Amino acid sequence: MIHYLDNSATTMVLPEAQEAAVCAMHEMFGNPSSLHRMGIDAARCLKESRETIAQAMGCTAAELYFVSGGTEGINTAIFGAARKNHHLGKHIITTAIEHAATLQACHRLESEGYAVTYIEPDAEGHIAPEDVIAAMRADTILVTLMLVNNEVGTVLPVAEVGKALKQKCPQALFHVDAVQGFFRVPLTPKKWNCDLMSVSGHKIGAPKGVGAFYLKREVRLAPYIVGGGQESGFRSGTEPMPQIAALAAACKVRAAQMEADLAHVASLKNYLTEQMKKRLPWAEWNGTPDIPHVTSFSLPGCKSEVMLRVLESKDVFVSAGSACSKGKESHVLRAMGLDKIRIDSALRVSFAPQNTCADIDALMDGLEAGAKMLKRK
Ligand code: PLP
Repeated sequence: MIHYLDNSATTMVLPEAQEAAVCAMHEMFGNPSSLHRMGIDAARCLKESRETIAQAMGCTAAELYFVSGGTEGINTAIFGAARKNHHLGKHIITTAIEHAATLQACHRLESEGYAVTYIEPDAEGHIAPEDVIAAMRADTILVTLMLVNNEVGTVLPVAEVGKALKQKCPQALFHVDAVQGFFRVPLTPKKWNCDLMSVSGHKIGAPKGVGAFYLKREVRLAPYIVGGGQESGFRSGTEPMPQIAALAAACKVRAAQMEADLAHVASLKNYLTEQMKKRLPWAEWNGTPDIPHVTSFSLPGCKSEVMLRVLESKDVFVSAGSACSKGKESHVLRAMGLDKIRIDSALRVSFAPQNTCADIDALMDGLEAGAKMLKRK
């Protein structure tokens, strides 16, 4: 039996999402732009999917554009905002704990003459709203924040920042990377004064390769990808209907179960905390998460990559940090000021609603066995 506890990296496709994808591949496989009946059926599926997903994202269907995932949404937001507002200023605010998609896009803009302020977290992984607000300047054209950190599960102060930004820098756009918050925290872009928001399908039980991008009705951005004019000309390319239909199906399941899922994941987190206290009381917790889905801890003296292999041999799957960092030292834990021993021994456990206490028992058995072996060396 597989014990998959790496759901911040990606999730298993839900059966409902798989079924919707297969239907879009085999029965309703027309191109939504075709004028015949097969096309019209696909266009109806596209419209209904957009409505379902928009509801889950707290926006209207007209404000939602399909993209290939979180990375594309983030790139669209950052480069789109820079291009739109370059005559107003060249200053961008983000944080030191963002996903690589945000950090790399910002680095590219820096090489093109933009100034980027990276707000540092505190030792628990929290970003203080006052720090972001204090960094706002007359030439700030974009603030981009993640909603939930993918390594330590902290929630960033998007509502406070959005409100202050609209008062202090009305010309600036506000983007929220909601990839790790989707169905963990309710998405309310209007309340947050958010202009742009990105989510990704594969973090909520839909397949990889699809995401949704919110563009507030009043905001115009030049398209990042041009071609056949799909997605109202904002994102050309034939719509990947199997992924889109699957994303809508996953949203329906997650929306119906959101409260129960949150309670279940919170009980898993409590169980993990209890077991760790009992069986590995010397573990050190990294950060103070605000949601129960993501937890990071270190077992000093037990190198993460070796522990990952021990766990893998017992069919338990966790990660050392973000999947995209591929074994590089975590920039998030470093920004929190943790020492090298702690960073080198960090493990991230991330839950999905399908997980059970049996997964945690298997994890604990593996960690105990691994710690015994590695501490002896
Ligand atoms: N933003 C965050 C916070 C993420 O965790 C991820 C994926 O790990 C992404 C963006 C990128 O999303 P995608 O894998 O869909 O490109």
